[in-house]
Amino acid sequence: MCGIFGYIGQNTNIELGLNALKRLEYRGYDSAGAAWFNDEKKEIFYIKKTGRIKSLEEEINKSVFPKIGNPFIFHTRWASHGGITDANAHPHYDCHKNIFLVHNGIVENYRVLKQRLSEEGHKFYSDTDTEIIAHLIEKFFKGNLEEAVMSALKLIEGTYALVVISQKDPNKIVAARKSSPLLIGVGEKENILASDASAVIGRTKKVVYLNDDEVAVLTPNDFNIFNLDNIKKEKVIDEIDWDLEEAQKGGYKHFMLKEIMEEPEAIQNAILGRLIEDDGNVKLGGLDSVESRLRNIEKLFLIGCGTASFASQVGEYMIEEYAGIPCEFDIGSELRYRKPILDKKTAAIFVSQSGETADTLATLKEFKNKGLLTLGITNVVGSSQARETDAGVYTRSGPEIAVASTKAFIGQLTTLILFTVYLGRQREMSLVMGKRIVSELVKLPDLANQILKTDSEIRRLAEKYKKYHNFFFIGRKYNYPIALEGALKLKEISYLHAEGTAGGELKHGPLALIDENVPTIAICPSDSVYEKMISNIQEIKARKGLVLAIATEGNEEIKKIVDDVIYIPKTLEMLTPILTTIPLHLFAYHIADLLGRDIDKPKNLAKSVTIE
Ligand code: GLU
Repeated sequence: MCGIFGYIGQNTNIELGLNALKRLEYRGYDSAGAAWFNDEKKEIFYIKKTGRIKSLEEEINKSVFPKIGNPFIFHTRWASHGGITDANAHPHYDCHKNIFLVHNGIVENYRVLKQRLSEEGHKFYSDTDTEIIAHLIEKFFKGNLEEAVMSALKLIEGTYALVVISQKDPNKIVAARKSSPLLIGVGEKENILASDASAVIGRTKKVVYLNDDEVAVLTPNDFNIFNLDNIKKEKVIDEIDWDLEEAQKGGYKHFMLKEIMEEPEAIQNAILGRLIEDDGNVKLGGLDSVESRLRNIEKLFLIGCGTASFASQVGEYMIEEYAGIPCEFDIGSELRYRKPILDKKTAAIFVSQSGETADTLATLKEFKNKGLLTLGITNVVGSSQARETDAGVYTRSGPEIAVASTKAFIGQLTTLILFTVYLGRQREMSLVMGKRIVSELVKLPDLANQILKTDSEIRRLAEKYKKYHNFFFIGRKYNYPIALEGALKLKEISYLHAEGTAGGELKHGPLALIDENVPTIAICPSDSVYEKMISNIQEIKARKGLVLAIATEGNEEIKKIVDDVIYIPKTLEMLTPILTTIPLHLFAYHIADLLGRDIDKPKNLAKSVTIE
């Protein structure tokens, strides 16, 4: 997720850390903090502050602390657990302020660990999952920091890029990684830890990428890498020759492509620590306070705008089918001017990446005024939507920089599946069905990764289709909203005209436009509406339309009917929207790239739509 910088070496001016954080600023964050040793390594100073890096800088400048020290650690936080407060900002420390650390990621089992550590007498000051790591290290510390870190990590489930310093073992920095990026910048008499290469560029070109379950120990002149059992590992030093912009995009040409490549991770982050496989259920801490009210609701509205509205629509279909609650989906800008029929047993789920979407917030206020139960799905902790709703679930997709939403949409879909299981298991959904959905969800990140491997094939297809000016996207049932999403994504970033429609609606009008110059992207996984989709495809073929199908692996028959096929792995029907979306995002991206568009900042559009 956000920014990490750790330094040990010749430089003693902590301004170096501030400058590095500024280079990591593009990643998005809500608070920033730093910890550093004084020169004699007898004391650790720390400052943490919500808001911009500038506020941290001002705080450091006006403090009485020396501005020199070594080693030092800096962090920008993108809150996942605990609100945006100074106390929750990183670095975090143990009971005796001996151990300081910064962390990106999520400690999945933090509740259990926190409970256990509290019983053992540890005192907590924040609401974060991260703080427990400091206390765990404290618990195991016997004089050697890396050994204590290794013992602590063996108890932690979840993801981390972790950088730790301790006053009682002061001449080193210890770092570890699991699923969150972390690299070592190998310099002249200095070593650096950073969440991405942009923070080390200019100081060194030599980097070592940490792998999962590796622990690094850095001194000014050396670095060593171990596994969690303290066995030393050999690592290769890579040379990077990126400029700052390339480094920030992780070597990808655009943020959008980087974010599509992060879609499997978005699924993983959304489900982390939330599945109870044995019970075929999910735990959503954010809904605890409204659990009994949710049992009694008899109608549910799902509300979003743009891409989030398509996620809401998929949610409508899923919750209706699997939780048996009558659902109504609408877009924020419409619902706020309608007069929906509401009663006390109605609740609403508001879906917004930023949590600041004006049209969605306006409907939320209206529903709140009427005393209805309001729930939120958003990516941004502490956003207006998160504060205004009665309860909610974060998507935890990490900051999204490209204007066109990709991984955040995947995060919304995944979170809506969790909602469906939650509401379903409160009602008629059987244990068996709950287990099926949950066990398929576990497999989804891997399946999503398989699709990403077909990227070069999708680019080849984009080459073929880029010459057309009008596109149709069709789908049925769960994949109807995905047809809308595919069309929206293509028009947003390529400026080509694309229209999404329900497969069954073609013959009621749009078919009039089909000819050899108007290709159709047909989303037709092997599901309950597959045969119907095939009929719709035949209608298009009969009018000489070109068809690119998104179909399920193993379906060889379809090749005889359509012009091109992109395959997705098999999964439950309800989960197919997540998999069918991924090739559509890549397809839109590659067409726009081949046409030379300004992909991350398409004309006329803004990331967070805060006006009506
Ligand atoms: N889960 C941690 C928190 O909420 C880490 C956040 C981050 O990755 O920046 O503080």
